[in-house]
Amino acid sequence: MTAIQDKIQMFHKSLPEQVSLVAVSKTKPLEDLQEAYDAGQRIFGENKVQELQFKYPAMPKDIKWHMIGHLQTNKVKYIAEWIDFIHSVDRMKLLRTINLEAEKYNRNINCLLQFHIAEEETKFGLDLNEARQILDSDEFKTFNNVNIRGVMGMATFTDDETQIRREFKSLKKNFDTLKADYFKDTPEFKEISMGMSGDYQIAIEEGSTMVRIGSTIFGERNYKK
Ligand SMILES: *Cc1c(COP(=O)(O)O)cnc(C)c1O
Repeated sequence: MTAIQDKIQMFHKSLPEQVSLVAVSKTKPLEDLQEAYDAGQRIFGENKVQELQFKYPAMPKDIKWHMIGHLQTNKVKYIAEWIDFIHSVDRMKLLRTINLEAEKYNRNINCLLQFHIAEEETKFGLDLNEARQILDSDEFKTFNNVNIRGVMGMATFTDDETQIRREFKSLKKNFDTLKADYFKDTPEFKEISMGMSGDYQIAIEEGSTMVRIGSTIFGERNYKK
């Protein structure tokens, strides 16, 4: 068994039943993805459309591909035929485009509303009022090709566990609020995508249902050309 397969097995054994593993394979070669696949992993997360377009046709068809990175509206069309989840819905315009492109293929795309929970300015995401504006709009009610499945967020990159925990708690709270106010009768609205290699244990304690793990499985990423 390879190191990647070892890690996949470890996660499959140790994650609570309600938590799914998104193996974040960005920047990694197809061979690494195949190793993870052979160990039973079926959900892969990527953050670039171009990389998804390259990896999707090259890999087995029973993989569920999750887009986890910032998404430009003009690129939705390249993944709309087969993308399973988009974690990074952070504006109405994007949701509108996803709905429109999914409609062309007569399918539904699972979406998560991305919230800004970190201190860092650079992380994308909605606040609760912005999410309400989307969900309250008449236009939203006409979207038949997107399924809002829950929320996603990224904590601040810090060693301060108290802060990370506080940020995850705020995401869980937003989830609970939206669930109560908009999705009481929608059982599919149940996902809280939070937790990465450095903080997934805290995230699970705080109610995560999807952890997005990259470097712990595949090793550190090297962005140098
Ligand atoms: C890269 C990335 C991850 C995985 O990060 P690791 O620290 O390598 O586990 C998770 N979520 C998002 C949105 C990412 O871009």
